Formats: sequence, structure tokens, C-alpha cells
Amino acid sequence: MSDQKRNFETDAIRAQTERSQYNEHSVPLYLTSSFVFDDAEHARALFADEVPGNIYTRFSNPNNNEFIEKLCLLEGAEDGIATASGMAAMYSSMAALLKAGDHVLASRSVFGSTHQILNTLFPRFNIEHTYADIDDPSSWEAKIKPNTKMIFVETPSNPALDLIDLEWLGALAKKHSLILNVDNCFATPYLQNPMKWGAHIVTHSATKYIDGQGRVIAGAIVGKKELIKEIRFFARHTGPALSPFNAWVLSKSLETLAVRMDRHCQNALALASFLEEQSDVLKVKYPFLKSHPQHALALKQMRLGGGIVTFEIAGGVERGRKFLNALIMLSHSANLGDTRSIATHPASTTHSKLSDAERMAVGISPGLIRISVGLENIEDIKQDVLQAIVASK
Ligand SMILES: *Cc1c(COP(=O)(O)O)cnc(C)c1O
Repeated sequence: MSDQKRNFETDAIRAQTERSQYNEHSVPLYLTSSFVFDDAEHARALFADEVPGNIYTRFSNPNNNEFIEKLCLLEGAEDGIATASGMAAMYSSMAALLKAGDHVLASRSVFGSTHQILNTLFPRFNIEHTYADIDDPSSWEAKIKPNTKMIFVETPSNPALDLIDLEWLGALAKKHSLILNVDNCFATPYLQNPMKWGAHIVTHSATKYIDGQGRVIAGAIVGKKELIKEIRFFARHTGPALSPFNAWVLSKSLETLAVRMDRHCQNALALASFLEEQSDVLKVKYPFLKSHPQHALALKQMRLGGGIVTFEIAGGVERGRKFLNALIMLSHSANLGDTRSIATHPASTTHSKLSDAERMAVGISPGLIRISVGLENIEDIKQDVLQAIVASK
């Protein structure tokens, strides 16, 4: 093909770069912990980074390279590394670039374990943080300190589905020379590309939509070359490497990401609209619903609304628990981004360690239900949700 830029779906399928001597059509699996050197000079040159090639799977492996090169292409990033979990990506992307005395400005609405890194682990190394509210962007700039080095956000947020304007945030990071690190797990590269708006690093839990079938735990960090170089050094010596088998699974998954996300989003919008019509449902949140307070921003920075819908069921915590127990088909699990629809009650599970006030500050009311809308037929999903609303009365 010519130099003409190809489209997302094509890159996700056709970006395979190398074939082995067997001329396979689909990338094979390279389960090997190390690689042999041609001779002493080759070994020296590899270790000196003078020639490309693999040494040891903790550093790189053909499957990990293939997965990450494809993801870089899809995110519009220069370079990246694959990690054994989403949290390994979040941690490595911060720990590699921060040092004692630095400060992180983070969205209050970040993933639970990201909170633990900022609240509990980083203070041991004298790395401090301040939280800012995703729904109050005017407060962010005043929280930047002379030692602030990084801004860390998730958009859409989990589980409240609030958005932050990435273009505005990119400009803020630029103005203060800060590294903007965006956890793009909920949107995936198909729906949103933070690099386009000025992010320097994009982090993923590939466990969610990138795998998309609830099989593997994995993560990825992509971004600007010079930052990834530092993160690669950190990862090479601390060892969060992804298993080649998981990288192989994920690379195949990327080939279907666009079609899967199209259907996740179509089903999610249909379920959200359906829920808005139910009398016992107090509030429905979905970025592509007209009633979402940031609908215009969602249209600007996201291709579609994503696969997660949240709603508030009348009757608080007790009704929320009853609703989950009444579901017949939907799974009750803490995961998301699976082919199977999954319902979660954050107040009694994922966010149960927060106080009521802390939960309310990140938009988690007692009766909030999060649904990761899967790829089952939408009529079956609606029917199960409806019967559970009725049965939990
Ligand atoms: C799940 C998740 C993570 C953590 O990823 P793991 O793969 O479970 O380690 C981080 N951020 C977000 C937004 C997530 O949903």
C-alpha cells in the first residue's frame, strides 16, 4: 500500500510487521524466555542497544513487540511497553518518571489501586499528590505546585462516567511543562486518542476491552519516545513484563476491537435509553445520552459513548443489593469490558473501603449500579435488567 494513512480497523488487522521462515499468516506464539546470539559481537551489540533484537523476555519478545507496536499505531504513540497488568502499567508509568520530592496532580476519580499507589505507597518515597475533582476543572490550575511533575487522569471516570476535557488538560499540562498521563482503559484507542489532545503517556488495563473476553490480565504504556525510554529502563530492571502468551492473545483481540466496541457502544446506548424510561430508575448516566451533563464534550473527544452504563436505582444500598441478586443472566463480577454483561454495585464492593462522603465526592451514590454492557443480544440484556428491577422492589 502507499503512504496514505490507513484506517483504524485496517491498522489493527494489517499492522503485522514480520513473518518467520514458515511464512505464517497469523502471528505465531514465541514462548521462550531467552534468545540466542549469533556470536560474541552480536551479543555485545545487542546489550549496547546498537542493533535491534531480543535478548531476554523480561526486556522484549516478538509477541510483546507485535502487540505494543500495533497499540502504538492505534493510539498515535511513538513507542510503548506491554506490562503484566493494568496496575503494573499505572505504577511503572509513574514510578519511572517521578522521584522523591515530586508532586502528582490526579483526578479524584481514578481507579482504586491507583489511589493506593498515590495514598499509601508513594508517600514512603516522598512523592506527594493532590486530588482535583473531575467535575470542577476551574480548580485544577491552582493545585499545580512548583514541584508538580505529572497530571494523572481517567476519562470517562469509573464508575461515575464523568469526563474531563482532554484538549483543555493538554493545554494546561503544556503551559506548566507537566507530563500528562491518561488511563484510557474505559475508552480504548478506538473511541479516544489522548495523545491527539496533548497527552504524553497513555496507560491501559488491557484486561478490559483490549482483551474483551475476560481471559487475561495485562496492561500497556504508550507515549512519547523519550519518556518511554525511561519507563523501558525501569521496566527492564524491575520486571513487570507481560507474558508472551497474553501478548499473543491481546494482539489477536486488537484485530476485533473496532467491531466489538461498535456493538458494546450500540448495546450500551440502547440499554441506557431503556433505563431512562423505567420509573424506579432515578438517574442514568452514559456519555452519549443527551441527558449527560457533558454530552457535547463526549461528542467532541469520543467516537462513541463506551460500553459502561451507570444508573441509580430507587431504594439505596439495600435495593442495589437486591437488584444484583435478582439478575438471572448478567454476571455479578468486578470486571468490565467482557463479552458477557456484568453488573456491579460499587458502594458495597469496589468502593466499599471509602467513606460515604468520599464515595459521594466521586459520584457513587448508595444505589448506583454499574453495568458493563456485553455483546449478548440487547433484547436479552434489557429483559434481564427489567425483571431484576421488578423483582427487587
Ligand atoms: C481495571 C482497571 C485498572 C487496573 O488494571 P488491571 O489490569 O486490573 O491491573 C486500571 N485502571 C482502570 C480504569 C481499570 O478499569
